[in-house]
Amino acid sequence: MLANLHTHTNYTDGADSVEAMADAAYAAGFAVFGFSEHSHTPMIDGFPGLTPDLYPSYREDVLRAKDKYAGRMEVFLGLEQDILTGAAPDGLDYAIGSVHSFETTGGIFVVDDSRERLIHGVQSYFGGDIYKCIHAYYEAESRVIAVTEADIVGHFDLVMKYNEGGAIFDEGDPRYLDAAFTALDELLKTDAIFEINTGAMSRGYRTFPYPSPAIMRRIRERGGRITLSSDCHSTDTVAFWLEDAAKYAAGFGFDCWWTLGAGGLTAVRL
Ligand SMILES: [Zn+2]
Ligand SMILES: [Zn+2]
Repeated sequence: MLANLHTHTNYTDGADSVEAMADAAYAAGFAVFGFSEHSHTPMIDGFPGLTPDLYPSYREDVLRAKDKYAGRMEVFLGLEQDILTGAAPDGLDYAIGSVHSFETTGGIFVVDDSRERLIHGVQSYFGGDIYKCIHAYYEAESRVIAVTEADIVGHFDLVMKYNEGGAIFDEGDPRYLDAAFTALDELLKTDAIFEINTGAMSRGYRTFPYPSPAIMRRIRERGGRITLSSDCHSTDTVAFWLEDAAKYAAGFGFDCWWTLGAGGLTAVRL
């Protein structure tokens, strides 16, 4: 079964309209397709997200897609709620909580804009110590569900985005793993579902999804729940690597993943 709840459009940094994305999803055979445009984040330099003046039209477009595909594909209205925005608004079907940036004493640190910006930020705000930066990132991540009140944890280990092959730090370093596991254990106390997110793969940054194997193993051991997300930004990537993501999950011993259905959250057997 194909389902995805993480979708961007040309309301923010996606390439295509809500209607075009819904059409592409239906053509690809999706049973469930959710829209999760970036929440309004004026404090992130150069990236305001979905500004309040655009929200009503985004909502209308998604509701129109819901009507268009009624009985054929479940369409859901969501937001990818950034931790800096605060709690998700009422009236959504669901929300994904994500840390794309966080507050430091020196200013806002942006995690996923570019490798250069990440490295520059580590120099400016953390005296060049990547592990201090990672610690601060996961401290913010540990609070993402409490702050956003979201249902889904977006790309838990986004701080790995530019670290393919250990390019910036050692993913086996206890300073990395302790910070990640502390945040993970905090989030596992909530009901939130963790994404397996293939968005950085479809855009050429990574060759495997978030979360990385060490984190996947711990989510499984501790009974956490997962969903599969393409985090798509264009019509050609709506289903990117989702079948493989199911196999990736099964490889860690998961026997099901979760998505939304007409009656709320539903489990899909692996
Ligand atoms: Zn995101
Ligand atoms: Zn996203």
